[in-house]
Amino acid sequence: MRKVDHIGIAVSNLDTALQFYRDVLGMEVTAIEEVPEQKIKAAIIPVGESKIELLEATSPESPVAKFIDSRGEGIHHIALQVSGLESILSHLAEKGVRLIDKEPRIGAGGNKIAFLHPKSTNGVLMELCEPEQAGDK
Ligand code: ZN
Repeated sequence: MRKVDHIGIAVSNLDTALQFYRDVLGMEVTAIEEVPEQKIKAAIIPVGESKIELLEATSPESPVAKFIDSRGEGIHHIALQVSGLESILSHLAEKGVRLIDKEPRIGAGGNKIAFLHPKSTNGVLMELCEPEQAGDK
């Protein structure tokens, strides 16, 4: 586990959220990206070594839409940056950890990502992510 890569925040409306994060807090948005597989639009806002990822659902079937329906806006997941995602996932599976993704998939920014089930992480949806060039650092 290298660092907190980002914190995902579910928002009902990205433009409204950006009026706060960008215009009031003065933070810089470095990317706005649609991830069709997850039916979301994400705004990436770097904070030092980490990022805030604002997530807006692009469809009512999006996991983010379901999250907001049941819990309202708020922290949706915490992402830890790792190296060796595949071997970490098989280690976790051996230990009986519930995995949402047994194999890595491609998330925002082309990173390899996998989610762990909140039942195994004290109620926090946890994402493990590995940037393509993580091995270089
Ligand atoms: Zn994320």
